[in-house]
Amino acid sequence: MSRDMMPHFERYQPESLENALDLANQLGPDAWLMAGGQDSLDWFKDRAKRPAAVVDLTRIAALHGIRETEEGLEIGATTTLTEIERNPLVQEKYGLLAQAARRVASPQIRNAGTLGGNLCQDARCWYYRYGLNCYRAGGNTCYADTPQGQNREHCLFGASRCVAVSPSDTATAAVALDARMVIRSSKGERIVPAEEFFIGPAVNITRMTVLEPGEILTAVRFPKEWSGATYYFEKVADRASWDFALVSVAAAMFIEGGNISRIRIACGAVECVPRRLKVVEQVVTGSPKTEEVATLAGKTAVQGATTLNFNHFKVPLMENLVRRAIRDA
Ligand SMILES: Cc1cc2nc3c(=O)[nH]c(=O)nc-3n(C[C@H](O)[C@H](O)[C@H](O)COP(=O)(O)OP(=O)(O)OC[C@H]3O[C@@H](n4cnc5c(N)ncnc54)[C@H](O)[C@@H]3O)c2cc1C
Ligand code: SF4
Repeated sequence: MSRDMMPHFERYQPESLENALDLANQLGPDAWLMAGGQDSLDWFKDRAKRPAAVVDLTRIAALHGIRETEEGLEIGATTTLTEIERNPLVQEKYGLLAQAARRVASPQIRNAGTLGGNLCQDARCWYYRYGLNCYRAGGNTCYADTPQGQNREHCLFGASRCVAVSPSDTATAAVALDARMVIRSSKGERIVPAEEFFIGPAVNITRMTVLEPGEILTAVRFPKEWSGATYYFEKVADRASWDFALVSVAAAMFIEGGNISRIRIACGAVECVPRRLKVVEQVVTGSPKTEEVATLAGKTAVQGATTLNFNHFKVPLMENLVRRAIRDA
């Protein structure tokens, strides 16, 4: 059968959050939430995922928009990446997020792709995307972590049977900005720090986030504490035009009297979650942004990295990106 044909599914288009939550609750694991569809439709067309029902979130006004609040900025989950990268408030106060959103895929994908979809997207490992029955798909092997496995995109840290990485560019920025994820279900609301929202294979090998069936990410809150900081975002990919990161770095820092007084820094595409570099933060806090400090930061960042057969290049890449983030921010 042609892989261009999508399998049949029921499509729901709720216009209120309550209606969407009822549907998500009733359908449970059978419900596939869909926003811009840029990740979802690939899965359906490749027939690697065959949901019974798809709940389209894009008609729900309450999930859309960028609002300034007393605590900072709140961005609705279905706000598109284009809206985020072009929004004057985001550009002025949370430029790191605007930069990360601008580096996602192509303009066409950013026009449809949403913040929620970008944060909740599944792993991009080719074996898994192709529909092979690996550990993440419920099977009992990892095709990437074999002597011949194609693993140049895969992880340096946090491997646990699965060696896939976090593919989301905005996730790395969200961790650096200490964002809060607003999650709703029919039982109520819970707020989860970005750093805890993403989960690795040791916690649950079949999911990338803490979201349970029936839960919807409704918004992301960016706290005032990191607004207006000095930011650095850099992503290295095989193609400069549009491609997933081989390694990315996102940093937010305040500089007082020539020294870094506060910093949060994270790398993308090196672990199954955005990797916050807490030890680097400790090493550079209170220090000037010199070449020497930046070099130490880079060396510290890659300590404990475990390479696979074809991803050794990621170690110096990560080291250099972290060095540049500290030196050039
Ligand atoms: C060619 C190509 C290149 C790409 N390049 C990049 C890249 O460089 N960087 C990058 O970061 N991404 C990239 N992507 C991945 C992704 O498609 C886009 O990032 C896009 O942002 C996904 O958003 P969406 O709204 O279209 O997601 P959807 O496909 O609608 O959803 C994606 C996933 O998130 C879940 N989801 C969506 N919204 C919610 C919500 N509110 N609550 C709970 N779950 C939700 C869905 O169930 C689904 O599992 C690329 C995709 C393609 C096809
Ligand atoms: S890296 Fe993860 S997703 Fe890829 S084949 Fe191995 S188990 Fe599957």
